Amino acid sequence: MKETKTLTRYIFITGGVLSSLGKGIASASIGLLLKQSGFSVTIMKFDPYINVDPGTMNPFQHGEVYVTDDGAETDLDLGHYERYLGESLSKKNNHTTGQVYFEVIEKERRGEYLGKTVQVIPHITDAIKLRMKSFEGKKDFVIIEIGGTVGDIESLPFLESQRQMYLELGRRRVMNIHLTYVPYIKSSGEVKTKPTQHSVKTLMEYGIRPEILLCRSENKLTKDIKSKIALFCSVEENSVIDVPDATHTIYEVPLTFKQQGLHNILLEKLVMDPVEPNLDEFKKFVDKIKRPANEVTVGLVGKYTQYRDSYKSIIEAFIHAGSINNTRVNIEMVNSEEIEEVGAEAKIGNLDGILVGPGFGRRGIEGKIAAIKYARENNLPFLGICLGLQCAVIEFARNICGLEKAHSAEFEKTNQNVIDLMESQKSVKNKGGTMRLGAYPAIIADNTLAYKAYQTHEISERHRHRYEVNNQFRQLLIDNGLVCSGTSPDGELVEIIEYPLHPFFVGVQFHPELKSRVISGHPLFIGFIKAALKEHKRKEK
Ligand code: GLN
Repeated sequence: MKETKTLTRYIFITGGVLSSLGKGIASASIGLLLKQSGFSVTIMKFDPYINVDPGTMNPFQHGEVYVTDDGAETDLDLGHYERYLGESLSKKNNHTTGQVYFEVIEKERRGEYLGKTVQVIPHITDAIKLRMKSFEGKKDFVIIEIGGTVGDIESLPFLESQRQMYLELGRRRVMNIHLTYVPYIKSSGEVKTKPTQHSVKTLMEYGIRPEILLCRSENKLTKDIKSKIALFCSVEENSVIDVPDATHTIYEVPLTFKQQGLHNILLEKLVMDPVEPNLDEFKKFVDKIKRPANEVTVGLVGKYTQYRDSYKSIIEAFIHAGSINNTRVNIEMVNSEEIEEVGAEAKIGNLDGILVGPGFGRRGIEGKIAAIKYARENNLPFLGICLGLQCAVIEFARNICGLEKAHSAEFEKTNQNVIDLMESQKSVKNKGGTMRLGAYPAIIADNTLAYKAYQTHEISERHRHRYEVNNQFRQLLIDNGLVCSGTSPDGELVEIIEYPLHPFFVGVQFHPELKSRVISGHPLFIGFIKAALKEHKRKEK
């Protein structure tokens, strides 16, 4: 049979003026529009840093580390891509300067450059282009987000590769989109286009002419301002697209793009037929976020609470589950160290539920354990993720099983390490390599909260951890009333725990937040928000 190959088009998204304009969301939104028009789409991110991946980076610096099914530790923008596209991506979707140089230098050491001087152009750029073409012939559209801001030294080799791609493939197959910022200056009451002009000028100096400008601004731009931008930046007037600050939710962005016809502006430039993306379901999902019937306030207990990007996927999973429950989910960040100072009741007593989040390192552990004790004793809905499950097991062992020294071996070696490394891991010297990463299957037991949520016995969830529930103590925990409702298929590893004498007390060793998608959400988050809503109504009485 003849293999049908599709003609792949490339859409590059660069960012100008400043960072944090929402390039990831813009990329994901364009992806959604194209996918809902019937095209196959994938989105890639090229990150300019020299780390091989963000796995070793502090969440305060880089935000959450997003883990894919195949166990790659990637940039959190991949989370946006997966959530909007509703598809699982892989390590092929995130590339860093570190990876590219690593590959080229290894090749050089093997003598594969045959005596040539190895240079940024063409050797680094060739390696980048090869990565950019990972989906060639397999997808109708590959959206490529270039990390960083135009003008940075770091991202130059990526931009040079983008220029070369345009030269090679031509204007029918490559589209350059630039996301920029149009500030409003309060004192003069004016909107300023100069930063955008400069940013486009810089891109042009690199040989890249953006054909569509996405203009991030506080309010919608007037026609005059759009004409001015079009004239000075040499783009067509209809190609200056507004991205006003989303008033309710970032999930409005695809709707704003659709309204302005971005999809057809783009297709026309690529000499393709116009389409009509179907966003009906998506719109219903967004409407429920904007005008929900109910409201709850849940606590996100952790230690990276000043920087919300550290818990990006959890926050998004709450929004999805909220939409499905027709409920606004207010999230209160609760620093677990403060719980240690003032006690759990003062910090979480008024909330409708708590989620104890993932984490590494000892700081704040006792606050988490105290919060979980409070939730267990006061029927407050509780969802523990990874370290959150581990803290729940420690709490249960200490306060129900009477193991006073119960602890995780990650923080303190005692003879009551209810959380410990697996035997097979203890002998491995290079601890960095022993992390359990990526999707693994788990089996769910009948008549459990987990089964009620998932409605299936077999699940697959993503992991990122070293430590596990210690099997030496498993029977003791069970004898005292803890239920191990999910395990690995061979029964060796505990994946889900719950406490049945409670409306919703669930801990999971994996990261359900990484599989929560728009429209469908995630079963555990949906169940948790439902329980929080009940608690809210109880408290109201
Ligand atoms: N630090 C814990 C472990 O390595 C938990 C990790 C996490 O929460 N992702 O097992």
